[in-house]
Amino acid sequence: MQIDKEQFKKDLAEQIQKDYSQSIDTVSTGEIYQSLAKTIRYYISGDWIKCKDKVRDNLEKQVYYFSMEFMIGRLLKETLLKTGMLEDVTDVLKDFGFKLEDILESEREPGLGNGGLGRLAACFMDSCACLGIPGNGNGIRYNYGMFEQRFSDGNQVEWPDDWLRNKNPWEIRKENRKEVVKFGGTVRMDANLKPIHEGYEIIHAVPYDMPIIGNDDKTINTLRLWSAELILEDSELNSVEYSKLEAKKIEIQKITNVLYPDDSTDEGKLLRLKQEYFFVSAGLQSIMKDFKKLKLSISEFPNKVAVHINDTHPALCIPELIRILLDEEHLEWEEAIEITRATMSYTNHTIMQEALEKWPAHFLKNLLPRIYMILEELDRRFNDKYSSSLTEEQLRNTSIIRDGYVRMANLSVIMSHSTNGVAKLHTDLLKTEVMKDLNFLFPDRFNNKTNGISYRRWIESCNPTLSSLIDETIGKEWRKNPLELAKLNDYKDDSTMLDKIERVKNINKENFSDYMKQRYDFDIDPKSIYDVQIKRFHEYKRQFLNALHILYLYHKILREPDYKMQPVTFIFGGKAASSYYRAKKVIKFINSLAYHINTDPRVKGRIKIYLIPNYNVSLAERIIPATNISEQISTATKEASGTSNMKFMLNGAITLATLDGANIEIKDQVGDDNIMIFGLNKEEVLDYQSNHNYNASDIYQNDQDIKMVVDSLVNGFLPKLGYDGIDLYDSLLKENDRYYVLKDFHSYKEASAKLRCMYKDRKKWNKMSIINTANAGIFSSDETIKRYAKEIWNVNGDF
Ligand code: PLP
Repeated sequence: MQIDKEQFKKDLAEQIQKDYSQSIDTVSTGEIYQSLAKTIRYYISGDWIKCKDKVRDNLEKQVYYFSMEFMIGRLLKETLLKTGMLEDVTDVLKDFGFKLEDILESEREPGLGNGGLGRLAACFMDSCACLGIPGNGNGIRYNYGMFEQRFSDGNQVEWPDDWLRNKNPWEIRKENRKEVVKFGGTVRMDANLKPIHEGYEIIHAVPYDMPIIGNDDKTINTLRLWSAELILEDSELNSVEYSKLEAKKIEIQKITNVLYPDDSTDEGKLLRLKQEYFFVSAGLQSIMKDFKKLKLSISEFPNKVAVHINDTHPALCIPELIRILLDEEHLEWEEAIEITRATMSYTNHTIMQEALEKWPAHFLKNLLPRIYMILEELDRRFNDKYSSSLTEEQLRNTSIIRDGYVRMANLSVIMSHSTNGVAKLHTDLLKTEVMKDLNFLFPDRFNNKTNGISYRRWIESCNPTLSSLIDETIGKEWRKNPLELAKLNDYKDDSTMLDKIERVKNINKENFSDYMKQRYDFDIDPKSIYDVQIKRFHEYKRQFLNALHILYLYHKILREPDYKMQPVTFIFGGKAASSYYRAKKVIKFINSLAYHINTDPRVKGRIKIYLIPNYNVSLAERIIPATNISEQISTATKEASGTSNMKFMLNGAITLATLDGANIEIKDQVGDDNIMIFGLNKEEVLDYQSNHNYNASDIYQNDQDIKMVVDSLVNGFLPKLGYDGIDLYDSLLKENDRYYVLKDFHSYKEASAKLRCMYKDRKKWNKMSIINTANAGIFSSDETIKRYAKEIWNVNGDF
């Protein structure tokens, strides 16, 4: 977008005056940020309106991506980059005496997600807009996002993330588009067998819309987040007592108050179920209203609307659409089912049994009586249709309601036209293990869509030094078509290019080290290898394995004071769900280890370890460009895909990985010589699981190194850890090491040593690095979204 700098200056000053009644030289950077964002939002609003009009006038099919989480990250820099306003706005701010960097730093990150699932939703929205696909996000406007993590005596402490305190300048509240969501009450059938829902509670859902901007001003889509609010009509105002009103307001706001700090268990149960129905119902009602304005036959609905369910959290979309079609549009069951199935598609994100969502039937019956009736009918129809062709066990595995629970994954597969996994291995496991009976019934519905990442954020914006080097080397076409990165393969033996690659990495490492010093007073030597594991703390992700190995190296250095090794800085980042006791013990272990190693003069800088507090998207953007080794070490079969693995690869880190999730596809892209693989594979893990022949105690008893390391968890070797090592010790020996940490310990240790050794040959390392970047194009979320659009959503276009 071309802007007139002088006009922009005036507009910004005017906005500041409106917002704060102050002149620009008296406001803070935080205040400038607010007014700047609003000015930019105003500048793009014309295009936003045009886009909506175009979609409506051309009767284009729209995609609605329903997700409980959108971890969108900071928006100002991305917006400036995509609109092409970055340089001009930098100049304008300079003229006013401000540095863009400071203003970017004052943006509070909207932490509306837990981890990979929420970040994926954000990348997908970005790709839809950049490809010109009319794709809108539908989610919840949490008053409090992901908690802020701090450490006290090495323990994680959770602080509320009051991200809306200074308001969100990108959003627009649209009270005139509010919807009514009904909870509770009873349902009876009238004389014509039509359901009558009575005695329910009404909650208003108010949408807050944010623009999702494509590059080159191509498309502006909408992220619509719903907030639960008390809205009284004028007639009600006099009939409610003020004191009761306040209490009611608080009660209602509770629904969208907090993001549940866990994406793998159904904590908080009833309130979480309320959240799920709340945004699903509001979203679908507003979609139906927009559709009806088109004045088409209802049978056209699936031709104009695709609803995507990101994991099962929004699976109530299915009975809710059926409810609308039956009760409000007065269709027959068969047609309602057909339209719903043709509209819905579902992405599965986990095969871990404990994370497959299921709701106690009585919860649904009490909270959503009409929805529960619909679920019962869907289950009855399914059983009627398939009971003769399935065995009792198959029927038990596939039905929607069983043993007093509603199983959301089964509902999603049975009632949608597409179920996709998020990496080849994961889809394969879905089809052959977890959902094999559903796959037997509906083989055509299952498909793979390996996750992807937005290249705008994860290289262009976060790694400008590498991006410029790539531009210089192969031209700028890769920014539009990431597959062009493959041209870098031609430079893998070019020593000048390899030197440049190293220089870029070193600059990024120095910048990161400076930032860590200034922000946390960490002393990170930019000459050391940066070995990084950043992700949610979870047992299956095995930060514990990483930490045990560092403990092993510490012992080795103490035993062999002259032991020579390439200096390494081990960097961790990640939050543990507040109720996840064991993950929090791993955090305590790492912090204790860091204290002892970093303060022990005998270590002589050979190893250092830091756990950076409050890992979030903004930190990821700083860490990833500076990383040498990317730790992707989950137990094989457990990580559905991973996306940070792709981000590291793109930025030239070498992956130290198990054969899990998308690591396997990264290996296929770069070849065996440019990735370091270790550990049990899928077959070996499945074999242990089915034959119950794994024995952690045997390994512990018969291996001196392992025994030494494991004993140090409980024998006082790490005084800071205190008694907190006992639970971790028990997880290995009393609980027989469910994630095979001890089994993989030696192969991990050896793989890690090999990589450190390879780092000495810098030329070879830089070659591996460039090969990783060159072959990362396939993991662009643009590529992934093109496949979703063509193969799942049936959206046509020239993308
Ligand atoms: N959390 C944050 C803040 C991220 O930025 C990302 C990915 O970039 C993730 C979680 C997902 O990481 P992983 O794929 O390693 O689980």
